[in-house]
Parts: sequence; C-alpha cells; structure tokens
Amino acid sequence: MYNITLIPGDGIGPEVTEALLHVLEIMDIELDYTLAYAGDACYNKTGTTIPDETLSKAKKADATLFGSVTTVPGHKSAIISLRNELDLYANLRPVKSYQGINCLFDDLDFVIVRENTEGLYSGIEGYTKDGATALRVITRSASERICKFAFKHAEKTGRNKVTAVHKANVLKKTDGIFRESFYKIADEFPNIGTDENYVDAAAMFLITKPQDFEVIVTTNLFGDILSDEGAGLVGGLGMVPSANIGDNNALFEPVHGSAPDIAGLGISNPSAMILSAVMMLDYLGEHYEAKKLENALLDVICEGKVLTPDLGGSSKTMEMAQKISDKLRIS
Ligand code: ATP
Repeated sequence: MYNITLIPGDGIGPEVTEALLHVLEIMDIELDYTLAYAGDACYNKTGTTIPDETLSKAKKADATLFGSVTTVPGHKSAIISLRNELDLYANLRPVKSYQGINCLFDDLDFVIVRENTEGLYSGIEGYTKDGATALRVITRSASERICKFAFKHAEKTGRNKVTAVHKANVLKKTDGIFRESFYKIADEFPNIGTDENYVDAAAMFLITKPQDFEVIVTTNLFGDILSDEGAGLVGGLGMVPSANIGDNNALFEPVHGSAPDIAGLGISNPSAMILSAVMMLDYLGEHYEAKKLENALLDVICEGKVLTPDLGGSSKTMEMAQKISDKLRIS
C-alpha cells in the first residue's frame, strides 16, 4: 500500500486527475490517496496558494501527484514552493516519441535533467534606478548533486552518454562552476560518456539531430526552455510528463499548465497525467505495473479511435480514460 498525496489544482488539473484515478482504479496496486489543495481556487478559499497542510501532506506521502495550477499573480507559486520545501532538486523530463502521435521525429527517447532549486529561479530580484536585476545563483553543491543524479539516471536506464548544457563562454563564473562540477562527477562514472553544448547550440541540435541526445543535464531556466522545446518534438504539451525528485520525496506532474482555454469542456488529453503516474510507479519500484499502464495508453493511441481533439480525435477526456481502462482489464 502506497500513500499518495493528490493535488488536482485548477483548470484542467481536476479533469486529468479524475481520468487518471479512473484508470488506476482497476490496476493491481493499492494506492491510498490523501487529497490536498493548491493554486487559484485554493487561494480564493483559504487566502494562500499553498497551505502548510498541503506541504506537510506532500512531505509525508510516498509520492505526490499534481494536476496543474493557475498562477495567482503576485503570490507564491504552488509548484515552486513544493519543489523548494521538499527539496525536489531534480526535474526529470522525458522526451519520447510514441507511435500514433504526430511527432517531428519518430525515434526519440532521451531525458532532460533540469536543476530545480537555484539558477534564475532563485527569486532574488531587485529594482535599480533604471530597471531591475535578477540574481542567477549557481552553487557547487547543487551542481554536483544534479550532475550525479543525471549520471546515475543514465546508468539505471541503460543510457551511455550525458550532455551538459550551459553557457560557460559568457557566464564564465556561474556556468564555469556548473561545467567544472559536471566533469568532476563524470570521473566517478567512467563507463558513461560525456558531451557538452552551449545552450544556443543545444536548442538548434534539438531540432537538427535530437537522436544524438541520451541524457541532458542543465541549469534551471535552460532546462525549462529546452524541455518545452522537447515537448514540441514529440506531440505537444498533452503528451509530456515530468518528475520532481529529491532524496526523500517525489512529485509527478504533467508538463502542461491549467489550460484555462479548454478547462471545463471535458476535452483535455489525459496522457501527460497518465504518463506522470507511469513515472511515479517506476519511482515506487512498480516497474511491471508502470509498463502495463504505459502500454495500455499506447495501445489506445495507436488504435487512433478514441482520442481527444489535440490528438486529432473527437473524444472526451473520460472516454479516452475508459478506453485505457478497458485495455488494462483485458491485458
Ligand atoms: P497556465 O497559465 O496554467 O500555464 P497556459 O494556457 O499558459 O496555462 P498550458 O496550460 O500549458 O499553458 O496550455 C498551453 C496550450 O496547450 C493551451 O492552448 C492548452 O489548451 C493546450 N493544452 C495544454 N495541456 C493540454 C491537454 N492536456 N490537452 C489538450 N490541450 C492542452
């Protein structure tokens, strides 16, 4: 039995969460859910976007599933608070092409490991006489920790190379430290190859030769931008899951936001949320169940009969969830 904290959030978050729960219900795995609140609706009810109770429920859980939240301007970001409070320092974003999805490339399977706790997301900003500045914080400890995570992930998943992405030719001190940390940690993994790209070149190589990447490790903002580019390579936001992992906690969420333009219409694609649960099951060591869930989703996508509009179909979110459940029942 696993204790899972569930944060459906706003917009399409509750819809894709409901679809996921419908699918998980018939799996051979016992999940005990604790509901928690965050985001815009939570702010309207409680005056905070991220109550202490939610943070403590997430800390106590074996894993947290997070739908999506609408950011309330001028208030704490719920997801950034969760990442910081739980020290979820590694953001893992797979870029994988699935048959049946309109991808730019049909043979991609790499992962972006983004440092999640510092860089330009440190939130240290100040006004100057004529504008404002933002502080880009890079430490050796956080850089070594994320690089070690990336090399271990490569080892664990049978990948042969880790590519560091940085801009050390311009950001000589901050990215100089990130680059040095990368090569220091690389020495501990003699069986894994290394490569490095400046971030601008990496953005181009993601389009021109993405097959060359196996694991990318990079700092916070670069990772955020490159992983949305990665999502664009493999069918868009409705298809891309992510994991936020620390030494004691983990949180799984689709890469997409709350999609207010389609919220309430019942047409959101549940795939990214379901693939986030696949990552969660893998994290919990339930590899067989993870594979089963992923295969059921892929079967439905490959058949192409019950798909949401963003995938070229005309089905509702829950119709797609039902079809995935049917596949699981007969598998
Ligand atoms: P937020 O402010 O919460 O980040 P957003 O609209 O800026 O919301 P996303 O929610 O990521 O950003 O949505 C970007 C676009 O992708 C929207 O047009 C949205 O409808 C579409 N989209 C995102 N997720 C899905 C999904 N699961 N299914 C279908 N379309 C989606």
